[in-house]
Amino acid sequence: MRTLTILGATGSIGASTLDLVRRNRAAFRVVALTGHGNVAVLAALAIEFGADIAVIADAARLPDLRAALAGSGIASAGGAQALIEAAQRPADVTVAAIVGCAGLAPTMAAIEQGKTVALANKEALVSAGGVMTRAVAQHGTTLLPVDSEHNAIFQCLAGNDPAHVRWITLTASGGPFRDWPAERLRHATPAEAVRHPNWSMGAKISVDSATMMNKGLEFIEAWHLFPVGADRLRILIHPQSIVHSMVEYRDGSTLAQLGPSDMRVPIASALAWPARMDTPCEPLDLAEIGTLSFRRPDEVRFPATRLAREAVLAGGAAAAVLNAANEIAVAAFLAGQIAFTRIVQCCDDVLAGALPAPPQCLGDVIAVDREARVRAHELMESAR
Ligand code: NDP
Repeated sequence: MRTLTILGATGSIGASTLDLVRRNRAAFRVVALTGHGNVAVLAALAIEFGADIAVIADAARLPDLRAALAGSGIASAGGAQALIEAAQRPADVTVAAIVGCAGLAPTMAAIEQGKTVALANKEALVSAGGVMTRAVAQHGTTLLPVDSEHNAIFQCLAGNDPAHVRWITLTASGGPFRDWPAERLRHATPAEAVRHPNWSMGAKISVDSATMMNKGLEFIEAWHLFPVGADRLRILIHPQSIVHSMVEYRDGSTLAQLGPSDMRVPIASALAWPARMDTPCEPLDLAEIGTLSFRRPDEVRFPATRLAREAVLAGGAAAAVLNAANEIAVAAFLAGQIAFTRIVQCCDDVLAGALPAPPQCLGDVIAVDREARVRAHELMESAR
C-alpha cells in the first residue's frame, strides 16, 4: 500500500487521480487532500477517502471546512502555510495538481521530502526551473511527469541513453481554434476557448491549449525534464491526440507512446511506477480511429510556442515572467476583460521589458512571479 497526498484534489487532475484510487482502494492510503475554495467537494472527498487532513488554501473558508468535517475525525487547516505543511507530511507519492504558480511552494515542500512527486502542475516547473530541478537532485526525489506528453516521453526514454536522442517531439492537438483564420481568433469567447475538442480539463489549461501557450509551457517543462537541449525539442500538431509524444534516436528508430485522450492513463503510469496498474479506459482501437494525422505548427497565428522557445534561450527569469504574465492574461480573458489575442500579446509585451535577475531560490522565483504579475496588470490597464 502506498500513502498518497493530492495537492489540488478538487480539480480535474485531482478527480482523475481519485477515480483511480477509488478503483484500487487496497493500493493507496490518502494522507492529505487540498483545494482552494471548493469546500463541499474537498470535504466530501476527504470523508470518502478517509484522509488524515483536508486543507483549504483560502483561509477564509476554513470555518466552513471545519463544519463540513465535524465528527469525521479528519483534521482540517487553511491558508498558504497549511498547504506547505500538508505537503511536508510523509507520503510515498504526492500528486502536484494545483493550477498555476500558486502550486509552487507546496510542490517544492513535497520535493524536499525526498519521496516521489507526480507533477501535473507544469507552471511550477516552468517558473522555478533550475531551482526545482536542483532541489530534486539534492533531495534524491523521484519526479514523475503526469502531463501526458512528458509522461509519454518519460516512457519512450526508459532504458535508453539520452545521449542517443536525435529529437524529442511534443505532440499538440492544436486546441479548439487550430483551423480558425487569424481574424476570427480576436473574437473567440471564453466559452469557445474552454471547449477543448479532445480533453476535459480545468479552465486555465483549456485556454492555454487554445492559445498554444500550453505547448509553450510544455516545451519549457520538457527542456527541464529531459536535458537534450532546446534544438532537439520540437512540436508537431496531431489533431487526434492519440500519439502523446515521440522520441527519435540516432539510428532512425522513433518510439512513441499512444493511448486514449484520458488523463487517467498518464496518472496511473505515475501512481504505479515502475509497475503498472489497471485503468477503466477503453482499449485503443486504431482500426476504429483509422487515421492519425500530423502537421507543423503555425507560429504566425499561434506565436506562444515561439515566445516559450525565446524564453528558454533567454534563460534566467524569462520563463517565470512568461508564466506569470500568461496567468494574469488568461484570468483577464476568462473574466471577459481582454480579447483572446491579447493573451499572448500581453506575454510578449511583459517579456519585452527588462528581465529581473535569474532566481537562485524559491523566494526569488516568487518575487519574480509577483513582479511580472504587476507588470502584466499595468500593461493590460494601459492598453484598455
Ligand atoms: P483545475 O482548475 O481543474 O483544478 C485546480 C486545482 O488547484 C483545484 O483543486 C483548485 O482548488 C486548486 N487551486 C486553484 N487555485 C489555487 C490556489 N491559489 N492555491 C491552492 N490551490 C488552488 O485544474 P486542472 O486539474 O485542469 O490542472 C491542474 C494542473 O495540472 C495545471 O497545472 C495543469 O496545467 C496541469 N495539467 C492538467 C491536465 C488536465 O487534463 N486537466 C493535463 C496536464 C496537466 P478549487 O477546486 O477549490 O478551486
